[in-house]
Amino acid sequence: MTEGTITVAYIAASILFILALGGLSNQETARKGNVYGMVGMLIAVLATVLGARVTGYGTIIVCMAIGGSIGFYVAKKVEMTQMPELVAILHSFVGLAAVLVGFANYMDETVHFEGVEATIHDIEIYLGVLIGAVTFTGSVIAFGKLKGIVTSKPVLLKGRNALNLSILLLCIWLGASFVGADSPSGGMLPLIFMTIIAFAFGVHMVMAIGGADMPVVISMLNSYSGWAAAATGFMLSNDLLIVTGALVGSSGAILSYIMCRAMNRKFLAVIAGGFGTSEGSVASSDAGEEQGEVVPISAEETGELLKNAREVVIVPGYGMAVAQAQHAVSEITRKLREQGVNVRFAIHPVAGRMPGHMNVLLAEAKVPYDIVLEMDELNDEFPEVDVVLVIGANDIVNPDAQDNPGSPIAGMPVLEVWKAETAIVMKRSMATGYAGVQNPLFFKENTRMLFGDAKASVEAILGSI
Ligand code: NDP
Repeated sequence: MTEGTITVAYIAASILFILALGGLSNQETARKGNVYGMVGMLIAVLATVLGARVTGYGTIIVCMAIGGSIGFYVAKKVEMTQMPELVAILHSFVGLAAVLVGFANYMDETVHFEGVEATIHDIEIYLGVLIGAVTFTGSVIAFGKLKGIVTSKPVLLKGRNALNLSILLLCIWLGASFVGADSPSGGMLPLIFMTIIAFAFGVHMVMAIGGADMPVVISMLNSYSGWAAAATGFMLSNDLLIVTGALVGSSGAILSYIMCRAMNRKFLAVIAGGFGTSEGSVASSDAGEEQGEVVPISAEETGELLKNAREVVIVPGYGMAVAQAQHAVSEITRKLREQGVNVRFAIHPVAGRMPGHMNVLLAEAKVPYDIVLEMDELNDEFPEVDVVLVIGANDIVNPDAQDNPGSPIAGMPVLEVWKAETAIVMKRSMATGYAGVQNPLFFKENTRMLFGDAKASVEAILGSI
């Protein structure tokens, strides 16, 4: 393939990636957006592999076959509830790739620059390896936290801020010695040191982040992985990688900003890591504390309440995803609407375990888009709602976020379901949600608890209406 053809292919792929992002911004066009992304990626891979710089086809074909098969197998096997973990681990691959490409590029004797160009190239390598290393270990820890093999509670080192500042200064100093080194062998030592420090920093940064703040971490690591890819693009002088990396980096940053706003956290504190964990707040987590009596309700009674209601709001959460209850929920919605009940869904921005988790499930179950509303669109209307069905949600409906300044989720906007006439909470036990804090909603006078697996409960209600 000639250079000209490759450039045209790269431009086409870039346009398709932009169209993909545009498509993904809306539920109706999301499917098309995915197709654009896939075609763009196919063009990108083909143009790169068929380019003049690639010679060892044997190795590439074997690696693509192995990688492609693993990817295919994992994507087929993964449960919807494991998607966030998969995304986290995929981010870690981008980070590791940036580190490896950085080292390979630095050691490659055929890559040679002089003067200012050499300095710029060294900076590209240094930044690529730095961002890549933080992304790698940060994403591995995020994966562990989401999978439950690493504690979801914030782990705070003493003097954390001073430590972060020292790491930053050390990295700048090592960067200066790396760029100033006369020979590759002289620069190797600072590069290796910085990589080790950046690996440790990635672990430290994400370990320090508490349960309910994880959504921000995920989108932030998504952004970091984009910038790592863009830095790799600079190292390899690959325009497409720069454009793609910048798209991922900036869209991840915008998503982080949106998630921060949803969680009422400060964006700059997020970028620095270890946010949302002000000392003292963690200790006041009251996961084990009993707060009174709860009033249970049966599926039949719930069915009666729903049939007699005019305004019903459904609040789905992570438990609906675990139970795979979305189809039964969609069926209830259809039946109630047929009987003249106004049913709407209230979606909290961090419901579930990934941005847009609930929207995906409801779209899959063919719930009409126009009754699926965002938190801000419905939050003021709860006083006029007759029945709220909270299906497998917990942290996102926790009044402590507003009422208890000592709570780890203090300040996070929540759905004010307790203001409705009756709130019915469907879950299996009194267990806490992801943030590990008790929920006073369960003990309120107008709350009823419908215990059991969400799918079984929703099907039982369906039977009674
Ligand atoms: P939560 O994790 O707060 O609560 C989910 C509840 O579902 C649990 O209390 C659990 O209770 C219940 N549940 C689990 N399985 C079932 C089942 N089979 N049937 C019925 N109930 C079930 O979820 P929310 O959606 O309310 O909040 C999301 C939380 O996750 C927030 O803290 C958010 O910060 C965090 N998070 C969000 C991410 C995102 O991007 N959206 C990413 C990472 C974390 P029980 O065991 O008693 O059944």
